[in-house]
Amino acid sequence: MQDFLKTLGLEAENSGVSTGLNWLPVDKTRQTAIHSPVDGSLIGKLNKGGAAEYDQVLATAEKAFQTWRLIPAPKRGEIVRQIGNVLRENKRPLGQLVSYEMGKSLQEGMGEVQEMIDICDFAVGLSRQLYGLTIASERPNHRMMETWQPLGIVGVITSFNFPVAVWAWNAMLAAVCGDVVIWKPSHKTPLSAVATQKLLAGVLKENQVPEGVFSLITGDTRDISERLTLDHRVPLISATGSTRMGKLVGRACADRFARTILELGGNNAIILSQEADLKLALPAIVFGAVGTAGQRCTTTRRLIVHDSIYDSVREKLVTAYSSLKIGNPLDEKNHVGPLIDLDAVKTMQAALVSLKNQGGKVIFGGDVLSGPGYETGTYVRPAICEAENSYPIVQEETFAPILYLIRYKSIEEAIALQNGVQQGLSSAIFTNNMREMEKFLSPAGSDCGIANVNIGTSGAEIGGAFGGEKETGGGRESGSDSWKIYMRRQTVTVNYGTTIPLAQGIKFDL
Ligand code: NAD
Repeated sequence: MQDFLKTLGLEAENSGVSTGLNWLPVDKTRQTAIHSPVDGSLIGKLNKGGAAEYDQVLATAEKAFQTWRLIPAPKRGEIVRQIGNVLRENKRPLGQLVSYEMGKSLQEGMGEVQEMIDICDFAVGLSRQLYGLTIASERPNHRMMETWQPLGIVGVITSFNFPVAVWAWNAMLAAVCGDVVIWKPSHKTPLSAVATQKLLAGVLKENQVPEGVFSLITGDTRDISERLTLDHRVPLISATGSTRMGKLVGRACADRFARTILELGGNNAIILSQEADLKLALPAIVFGAVGTAGQRCTTTRRLIVHDSIYDSVREKLVTAYSSLKIGNPLDEKNHVGPLIDLDAVKTMQAALVSLKNQGGKVIFGGDVLSGPGYETGTYVRPAICEAENSYPIVQEETFAPILYLIRYKSIEEAIALQNGVQQGLSSAIFTNNMREMEKFLSPAGSDCGIANVNIGTSGAEIGGAFGGEKETGGGRESGSDSWKIYMRRQTVTVNYGTTIPLAQGIKFDL
C-alpha cells in the first residue's frame, strides 16, 4: 500500500458511509474495487451504502440540524478553521491521493487541496458576517429588516474531476450558515472523499460537533443520488457534473420546489486577437487545453484565432504540444496524466472520428499511447484540430484534451463564435487592445459566468462566485455572496409603537 494511503487512514477495505464520527458497518454485498487510472493498481475496496444506510444518514442529519442551527455562526466558523488546519497538515498526502485516484498532476492535486484550505479561510471570515439589511419602513414606530436563517440539509453531489474541492466549496459555506451536509461523491473517485471524511473526524470529536453535521454516503445512483434529489427533507441540492445529470436533478428538484446549485458542463473558448501578447497567451492556452488531461469544466476547448495570425499560432501550438511530457502524474516532470478510464478514451476517439466525418482535421496528436508506463490504456496524446464552430461535435463538451482551432476576422464575429454554443461557463480574450477588451466585457460581449482578459479559461480563485450560464446550469458557488443560497431569507418587521397602522395606508377600524 502507498504511504499516503496509510497516512490518510485508508484501509484495504473501507466503509463508504459515515455520519461524521462514525462509519456505518456496511456489508460486502455492494463492494466495489477502486483502481488507479495512473497504473491500474487497486487503491482499495469500498463497501457502498444502500437504501437502509441512506435512511440512517438522513435521520441523523435531520437531528443534527436541530442543534447545529442554534450554535452561533462564529463558533461554527471556529470548527471550519480547525478543518482548514487539518487540511493544511495533510495537503501533500491528500493531494497525492487525488492525483492517484483521479489522474491529475500532483501539482493540481495539491492545488485542489489548497482550494479547500482557501474556502475554509473564506468561510471563517464569513461566519462573522452573514449580514442582512435594515430597510426603511413606511409605518411609524416600525423597524423592518432582512435576516438570514439556516436552511437545513444540503445534498452535495460531486463529479470525478474535482474529487474533494467541490465538496469543500459547498460544505464549508453551508456549515457556517448553520446547515448540515450530506456528500454523495463521484463513484469514480470515492476514496478521496472517504479520506477527507476521515480527516474531519478528529476536529468533530474534539469540538463535540453533533453526529450528522458532515455525512458521506457512497452508492449507486438509484439507491442514493435519486433518493437524495427526490427527498423533501433536503431543501437544497448542489450538483456538479454533466449537463445530462443536471437536467435530471434539476427536473426532480423543480417538481418539489427544492433549490438547486447546478454546476454543469462547459465548452470554453479563448479569443486570440492579432493584438495579443503571445508570450502570455501560449502557455495559458496549452495549460488550459491539456491540464488535467482536458478534464476540467473550465478546460479550453475552442481557440478562436484572428485570421492574420492563425497559421503562425497553429505552428507554435504544434511545437509546444510536441514538447509535452505524458505519463505518471505523480512524477512532477510530466505535464499530462491519464484520462479517468477506458470509457473516456473511447469517447475521445469517437469524437475525433466524428470531427473528421463532419469536415474537420486532426493536425496533431489524438492517439492512445502504448508501451512501458502506458499499460493501462488510459494515456492519450492531446489533440489539436481544425474545425468550424457549427460542427455538432464542436458544440458538445468532449471531456478530453481536444483543442479546436477556429478562425475569425472581426471581434464581433469572434464574440458571436465564443457565445455560439449551448454552454456558458468560462471565456477569455487575449488582447492588448482596450476597445476589444471592453467589448468582450460589455453587455454585447461574453455570455459566460466567467470572463477573463489575458488569463486562460481554466481554473478560478475561490473569492469570486463560480458557475456558468445556459446549459452550464446557472448555479453559483464559492465566493462573493454565493452563501445566500445556503440560507433562508426572512423579512422581519417589528412594531414598537402603540397603534397598529396597516401598510399602504389601509384603514380597518373596529
Ligand atoms: P457525471 O454527470 O457523470 O457525474 C457527476 C455526479 O452525478 C456523480 O456523483 C454521479 O454519481 C452523479 N449522478 C449521475 N447520475 C445522476 C442522477 N441521475 N441523479 C443524481 N446524481 C447523478 O459527471 P462526471 O463525469 O463525474 O464529471 C464531468 C462533468 O462535470 C463534466 O461535464 C464537467 O464539465 C462537469 N463539471 C462541472 C463543473 C462546474 O463547476 N460547472 C465542475 C466540475 C465538473
